[in-house]
Amino acid sequence: YVAKAEHLGVFVYDPDADSHSPGKLALLGELRRAIENDELLLHFQPQVSIDTGEVTGAEALVRWQHPTRGLVYPDDFVPLAERTGLIGPLTGFVLNAAVIQAKAWSDAGQPLPVAVNLSVRNLSDEDLPRQVAALLKAHQLPASLLKLEVTESAIMFDPVGAARVLRQLADLGVEISIDDFGAGYTSLGQLKSLPVTEFKIDKSFVMNMNQDASDALIVHSVVDLGHHLGLTIVAEGVENPAALEQLAAYGCDNAQGYYLCRPVPVDAFDDWRSDYVEGIRLGAVPSTELE
Ligand code: C2E
Ligand code: MG
Ligand code: MG
Ligand code: MG
Repeated sequence: YVAKAEHLGVFVYDPDADSHSPGKLALLGELRRAIENDELLLHFQPQVSIDTGEVTGAEALVRWQHPTRGLVYPDDFVPLAERTGLIGPLTGFVLNAAVIQAKAWSDAGQPLPVAVNLSVRNLSDEDLPRQVAALLKAHQLPASLLKLEVTESAIMFDPVGAARVLRQLADLGVEISIDDFGAGYTSLGQLKSLPVTEFKIDKSFVMNMNQDASDALIVHSVVDLGHHLGLTIVAEGVENPAALEQLAAYGCDNAQGYYLCRPVPVDAFDDWRSDYVEGIRLGAVPSTELE
């Protein structure tokens, strides 16, 4: 099984993977404390409709405000949390903070679905659906304002368990999105049987589609495939107006990327949003240049 998984390029669980690195070990002890001491925080990155320019959602991206190292990015500690049993508490923190923020936007009369990234081990956590249900209930947040992003490789690590957990989450009314789509190894047969409502096209394709005809073809094909399956398509990694134009030509629904807005703390997000919405009214946002 493991050999097969490696052949497929799927993440293979290895509890000892970092045990030889003192730096990582120190970080591990600190991460445990960080979760308890509120050193984690969320940045938010907007998604917009390519057609209308409307803000359609926000992705919550975790950061670690480390007392001496400064702001640490998820690629430097989420994998560590995954390998050490800290991913449960980390995801719990992120879900809680994301639900609180979604509720605040909703209460302010500007409801916006918030997307949270799940890890491979969250998908075998039989307790996760109950936790999510309890959070939604505690904060009186409509389930439709929470979206969960899962990668193909996370699903493939334990397809049967993942399908069960995702089904229970979807039954709550939460949206399920396939993150980094195209970069993994899920079979279409498998995807078809999952309660998925969205594909997010992996940024590697989106960032290269200007120069690379096959990346452009992949992006266009994923848009068409997803639409045939009745899904919403988001392109991540939109870094320039040319990419936005190309995506519009392919009929892609939504866009997320540095060209629109970087992931930012909530205050900066709100500032961006009011300027941006004002921009739409004045006809000055990038998407209105598409016509
Ligand atoms: P992801 O979910 O695919 O998130 C998108 C990443 O691309 C983010 O990096 C974002 O800052 C970056 N990005 C957005 N727009 C652009 C762009 O136009 N160009 C480029 N080059 N990059 C762009 P970030 O925040 O460093 O997160 C990296 C990965 O860490 C995420 O990839 C996700 O897999 C993971 N992650 C982030 N937050 C969480 C979390 O709360 N829980 C878990 N389990 N994983 C998380
Ligand atoms: Mg994501
Ligand atoms: Mg992604
Ligand atoms: Mg088309």
